[in-house]
Amino acid sequence: MKVLQGMLLIDGSGKEPLENAVVVLEGDKIKAVGKAGEIDTSRAAEVIDLAGKTLLPGLIDCHVHICLDPVGDPFATAARDSDATTAFKAARNAARTLRGGVTTIRDMGGKNHIDLNLRDAIAQGIALGPRILASGKLLTMTGGHGWMVGREVDGPDEARKGAREEIKAGVDVVKIMATGGVMTPGVEPGSPQLTVEEMRAAIEEAKKAGKITASHAQGLTGIKNAIRAGIDSIEHGVYLDEEACEMMIDNNVYLVPTLAAPYWIVAKGREAGIPEYAVAKTEKVIETHYASFRLALKMGVKIAMGTDASIPFNEHGKNYYELKLMVQEGMTPMQAIVAATKSAAELLGLSNEIGTIEPGKQADLLVVEGNPLEDIEVLANVHQVYKGGKAIS
Ligand SMILES: [Zn+2]
Repeated sequence: MKVLQGMLLIDGSGKEPLENAVVVLEGDKIKAVGKAGEIDTSRAAEVIDLAGKTLLPGLIDCHVHICLDPVGDPFATAARDSDATTAFKAARNAARTLRGGVTTIRDMGGKNHIDLNLRDAIAQGIALGPRILASGKLLTMTGGHGWMVGREVDGPDEARKGAREEIKAGVDVVKIMATGGVMTPGVEPGSPQLTVEEMRAAIEEAKKAGKITASHAQGLTGIKNAIRAGIDSIEHGVYLDEEACEMMIDNNVYLVPTLAAPYWIVAKGREAGIPEYAVAKTEKVIETHYASFRLALKMGVKIAMGTDASIPFNEHGKNYYELKLMVQEGMTPMQAIVAATKSAAELLGLSNEIGTIEPGKQADLLVVEGNPLEDIEVLANVHQVYKGGKAIS
């Protein structure tokens, strides 16, 4: 039994924080949560004093590409690297992500199923990193967004077979491309790609296998197509309108905004070696992207945190920056924290295990210096991360 005490507790549920809290860990689980004096801690093998610090659930990032490096041109680099090199980089990226306070990620497109192997290596204790839900090869139309790392499918039958084969390979999530995007040359973020019928076929297969689905969807038509096809989350959601937000609310579809992705492309620009087409497209969409986030927030769309870490200069381990941007664009710090904990766990279907600090849940925890409700950027000041009750040094 291990006792953490003296800290501010933000439990992830959105409830008022608790001062001078006590959290008891046993094995890989949280055993008890309360105020100082309420809980018997006399049998504790270890008491850790965390005065002046804040304890939160480990963050959950719903959109990461752990195999890709956040260099100027991640896709070209991944295409050049051998699979072994990609795997070493992915392992390094995973360790950085965990040390940055993220204890669970959903990978949204890897290379040659290295994401699946890394997930298993971490679960077996071979590599250090967060829990991973992996999507394997994303499904895209021929020449569609992400084709370099994905699986090209045309027509409902191929989409169905693509989903079945990815599920056979062991994915946790089926990722489907509903529109173009900025990192693939020659495709437009605003234009629809896979059709409703193609996406519906893939989603049917995912649902039959009990898997969740996510759609890269930037343009409005593609966003609505993905919702009509039955998708669980809209990734990016660059061109939302009120009708799309209402459709998302009515169908319990989450938005994973990835505000950090365009931020770093525009902030670093061409000088940093980011391809011209990516910078030009991002400059065109960033304002609309942020306005769509504000609209979704105002209308009450469910929002789960995702960074798109691996997009140029969107670094693995700097995932907290997404929360800073969500606050900058109108969320309270508490709303941003809930999006990165409880809401993210709900989207991933893991809310019985992670996402809040409650007895019976996994002891996936983040300790930071200071109070993130006063300044969200203190999430960068990681004091300690616990994954399954174990301190990550
Ligand atoms: Zn992505």
